[in-house]
Amino acid sequence: MRIVDDAAVGPYERVVHAVDEESGLRAVVAVHSTALGPAVGGTRFHPYASEASAVVDVLRLAEGMTLKAAAAGLALGGGKAVIVGDPRRRGPGLWRAYARVLDHLGGAYYTAEDVGTTVADMAALRAHTPQVLGVSEPGCGWDGDPSPFTARGVAAAMRAAWEADTGRPTLEGALVTVQGAGKVGGTLARRLAAEGARLRVSDLDVGRAAALAALTGAEVVAPAAALEADCDILAPCALGGVLTPAGVAGLRCRWVIGAANNQLSDDAVAGLLAERGIGYVPDFVANAGGLIRVGAQLDCWEPVRVTEAVDRIGETVAELIDAVDGGGDTLLAAARRRALARLAPAPAR
Ligand code: NAD
Repeated sequence: MRIVDDAAVGPYERVVHAVDEESGLRAVVAVHSTALGPAVGGTRFHPYASEASAVVDVLRLAEGMTLKAAAAGLALGGGKAVIVGDPRRRGPGLWRAYARVLDHLGGAYYTAEDVGTTVADMAALRAHTPQVLGVSEPGCGWDGDPSPFTARGVAAAMRAAWEADTGRPTLEGALVTVQGAGKVGGTLARRLAAEGARLRVSDLDVGRAAALAALTGAEVVAPAAALEADCDILAPCALGGVLTPAGVAGLRCRWVIGAANNQLSDDAVAGLLAERGIGYVPDFVANAGGLIRVGAQLDCWEPVRVTEAVDRIGETVAELIDAVDGGGDTLLAAARRRALARLAPAPAR
């Protein structure tokens, strides 16, 4: 195996490239920051068109994990890994080889599941290295899947925003469009329905959307129409980059609060949304529930401590809304400032 370790690249502490001919592994791991604790972030397994596009993705995602952990008040840093290839074709020895890459980082980075990897993959990887979280923990009654906790945190964020507008403490009566009926979107929709919210759901997989609608009483919306559907809260729970400068004009919602990472095509979209009176709760604040659950595995938190920490996402959102109220600021700017303040505390006088 060849491992090229670019220690300290710009704002990144480590960027490691690994190629293993025998197992076919091609991986890049980026450790953005360990200022608050060991870096945690999932492993994305994706057939990137080029090594360069894999590197761009891993760098962007690793930085996002630092912000997410800092904004959630966790003693964790940010990192991410990508494996380049088709996740349906895993050669024998892949996890053993990848474990050597993780061990090479000497404890600086813990991985977990992400797009293209599963809880079962993490269990297979865990057989070769301790640098893995998001694995089943029968003693704690956790199956290793962070999605329900991500959905719980998104719902808490929605509740805080809805209460700031209406004074109502629950989402009863709110109209929510959930884009993406997958692991997070599906759990979120079921949660919201149980709370009395009215729902629209959308998925490229028509059967998945229909099944979720049958469970929740939601109206199914065609994928092309989901973003522009009239609603109180739009919840992007599919892919990133869905909110673009051109797309803002077509939105008909009061809030955007969802699970997808990197929902804005660029940060300037937050300002455009604010100009239209649309509140955007930053993805790294709203979707931190899964990271909280995964990170809790490092110190074996009691389940109740985990759910309380996830529910505190709602308090964070309420504080951010208060902080920007009346000013020309966006929630994104306020959330970044809050995260960065934890990363670089003011020097003592
Ligand atoms: P998933 O793969 O289970 O579900 C995604 C769903 O979105 C799929 O059903 C897919 O068919 C659908 N989809 C894709 N493009 C779509 C489109 N244009 N319109 C409508 N539906 C579309 O993934 P997930 O685990 O539910 O994660 C959802 C998002 O949340 C991802 O962006 C992920 O990175 C992010 N996220 C997930 C977690 C977690 O705990 N799983 C944590 C943080 C962030």
